[in-house]
Amino acid sequence: MGSVRSEIDEWLLNGGLVVTASDRAARVLMAAFHRARQAEGLTAWPAPKVQDWNSFVSTAWQQRAMEKMDGRLLLNPVQEQALWAEIAAAGGQTATLLEGPRHRLAKLAMKAHDLLCSHASQFLIEKARNGWLQDAAVFSGWLAAFDRLCRSSDLLSPSRVPLELIELLQESLPAERPPLLLAGFDRILPVQRRLFNAWGAWREAVPGEPATKIHFYQASDAQAELVACARWCKSQLVSHPGIRLLVITQDANARRGEIERAFFKCTGSNPETSSPLFEFSLGIPLRQIAVARGAYLVLRWLNSPLTEAEVDWLLSTGQTAASLQEATELQAYMRALRRRSLERTHWTLEAFTSQPLAARLLPVSWFQRMIEAKRRLEGYSSRSQGPLDWAGLIPQLLEEAGWPGYRPLSSAEFQAAQRWQLAVESVGSLGFDGRRMRWQDFLAALGRTLDETLFAPESHDAPIQIAGPAESAGLTADAIWFLGADEDAWPLTGPMHPLLPTEVQREAAMPHATPQLDGDLAQRITDRLLASASEIHFSFARQKQTAEARPSRLIAQLAGAAQPLPPELAAPPVSSPLTVSFEDSSRVLFPPGKVEGGSSVLTAQTQCPFKAFATARLAAKSWKPAEAGLTASQRGQLLHSVLHSIWDGPPLGIRTHAELTELTDQSAFVASHVQRVFENELRSELRERMPSRYLELEALRLTFLVTEWLEYEATRIDFAVVGTEVARTVSVGELTMDLRLDRIDQLNDGSLLIIDYKSGDLSPSAWDLPRPEDVQLPLYAGFALEEDEVLGGLVFAKIRAGQHVFAGRVGDAKATLLAKLTGGSGLVKNSLTAEQLIDWRDSILQLAQDFLQGRAEVDPRDAPQTCKYCGLETVCRIRENEIHLQSDDDPSSLEVADE
Ligand code: SF4
Repeated sequence: MGSVRSEIDEWLLNGGLVVTASDRAARVLMAAFHRARQAEGLTAWPAPKVQDWNSFVSTAWQQRAMEKMDGRLLLNPVQEQALWAEIAAAGGQTATLLEGPRHRLAKLAMKAHDLLCSHASQFLIEKARNGWLQDAAVFSGWLAAFDRLCRSSDLLSPSRVPLELIELLQESLPAERPPLLLAGFDRILPVQRRLFNAWGAWREAVPGEPATKIHFYQASDAQAELVACARWCKSQLVSHPGIRLLVITQDANARRGEIERAFFKCTGSNPETSSPLFEFSLGIPLRQIAVARGAYLVLRWLNSPLTEAEVDWLLSTGQTAASLQEATELQAYMRALRRRSLERTHWTLEAFTSQPLAARLLPVSWFQRMIEAKRRLEGYSSRSQGPLDWAGLIPQLLEEAGWPGYRPLSSAEFQAAQRWQLAVESVGSLGFDGRRMRWQDFLAALGRTLDETLFAPESHDAPIQIAGPAESAGLTADAIWFLGADEDAWPLTGPMHPLLPTEVQREAAMPHATPQLDGDLAQRITDRLLASASEIHFSFARQKQTAEARPSRLIAQLAGAAQPLPPELAAPPVSSPLTVSFEDSSRVLFPPGKVEGGSSVLTAQTQCPFKAFATARLAAKSWKPAEAGLTASQRGQLLHSVLHSIWDGPPLGIRTHAELTELTDQSAFVASHVQRVFENELRSELRERMPSRYLELEALRLTFLVTEWLEYEATRIDFAVVGTEVARTVSVGELTMDLRLDRIDQLNDGSLLIIDYKSGDLSPSAWDLPRPEDVQLPLYAGFALEEDEVLGGLVFAKIRAGQHVFAGRVGDAKATLLAKLTGGSGLVKNSLTAEQLIDWRDSILQLAQDFLQGRAEVDPRDAPQTCKYCGLETVCRIRENEIHLQSDDDPSSLEVADE
């Protein structure tokens, strides 16, 4: 360890007080102190006096304020933000009309106030701000109102406490106060310097000896850089047991998942405690922590809708279930709703519990608990009441609803649940000025507080600490790795504060006021890091997103030109696959006989044998998010129904080309069929859920579309419709399946044309051998006709606004289908041949044989295109396989595998 720790350790041993820049640094210093005593073989010792800046100031102020009987309320952040939001709203600016922007402005105003307090307190006097213009002038008005409100209501902003403490300290002799040792201050702010001077004796801890080993590396990209860092940490832990490492990263929050994966993969976890060997210094917003998110969703659901994804998440985490069985039943209920196409984009609790399936599938005890909690809330929610009353009601509502569920909480979850309760109470404290709120406003304030509260579980003193450059102040280690040392990221730059005049910010040297200030701060942080460990490694990625990055000049001046990564830190030549490959030669035969699913089984078999196995034999189904309007498949179903109704023959429909051309008003004819289909076939749940105007527009769109299509069909050569929605049961080898053909026409030469309606852009090339993409129509052509029926062709009827067309294979399209076809038309150029029919038949028989024999390998026909809309990738694990396959082929792709 460097001399910094020795000096601090000695200071603490002598009973001295250490003030740190952050609470994180204070915790780390205390942990280091305890470790040192343990290493000395002691079993008990006095607690060290270490305080972070904020607690040091508030403790010292409260002691003195109490002596003076100061009865003012020290605002917490939630209370102060609420005051700024009200002041901003009273100004009447457009930007403050909506709640979200109003609170964002309130946060900006709070920050501007804090900057003035810490850097330029002379501007807290209203007269000094007289010349401020535009946004700064508006803020100046808000600040004056804030001051008046604080004076009249006996309130105090925490930003003012250091200034008040300075005055209080000046009333007594410095000699009465113990000297201070400061640790981890990259920059001592003007207010801090004044306060320490008023306190009495103070000094900063002497930096340790500068690092003796400094390296600067360049990696090909950010992933390679991260892998190198993780591998270095692993090697250090192995070769120096007990070593403490610090990893500095600029964007810990944005890359958190990626960093966690790389470190988990490389360093594993502590074999004794199973906890990871690394931890982040910075927490994540409480709303993203499962326990808190679950509680918040439960409260919202009691009187407002949740999105389908939120309901699904809540039920799958079991946070409202009293037992595993109840959790399983709730998920089964959700699946049953989807299977019956009862999905919704949003679910109110009422709608969710009143579906026809609920009586049979929804656990009764869950239903009763949730409804009871809802009723309890309804007893209050129509009126305004004090925030403290709402805060008091929340634990009762959650308990009623069964939160946090049947599983015992882990230590981290327990801490998160406690932090949740603190967040609820802090919003409850909004009643400090006697205000009353509606339930929705309370929930909105709670949501904001959850977003702004960072939560990190208690440190388990992991040997690898991961921190941002500024948060690392006060942390020491035996060795450091600094990621992202490129020219754009280090020195770190940022925007000036938008509510303060530029010249004020520059004169007071506020953060980001000039590039020089950013450079100076980066230099001080770099110097501090150099003095915090004996060995430091800097690195940067040459490729940053899509741009080429250059090394940070500041680091290059210090460490020389960046060198390539040492070979031992580069990604391993062959990464271990995320899935273990296993050559499974076993096959589970499908008993000869009937299979559900019709032609889609064999289409799936050709696209990817595993897809056929999973869908036809395991009933696997992908899950698409619910849509606000009709889904593509519901619209397609309506189109089919309308065409079936039209071509179903008398008394309401027609059957021949002649009847079609004799229609006097095709549009009115189509409209009547559309109306009948909407009345008879649109399920009542869909009709209730969708606005009637939307359905009217859908009906109109369908009428236009089908009328256009009939106009196109009127140009055909004479035909008669043999049948629509024709049901046929066919045998393909030993496999039997039920088929339903959209339509069969008889052409002018007596042969039959098989028609399949499509609203998408499918091409007959999908039938091309040796491995077709789609076998539906070739299957119909080869197996669905009776012996005495002669096939004239098979076509897609592509019904798309303005682009109506037949596409497929016809024996003689110009003579039997459309006389106007030119020689360049696909229908003319690629006519249907007997050889083609034989080849299709053989291919389809082989597919049926493969299915029966249990061929189920993950072998997409045309990856990634085939997989794009399949939806089974979580079952077949194609992604993991792909990564593994790539890594076998191309060593450079291994970096991806490490994700
Ligand atoms: S996602 Fe691709 S590989 Fe997986 S089952 Fe579907 S088609 Fe096959």
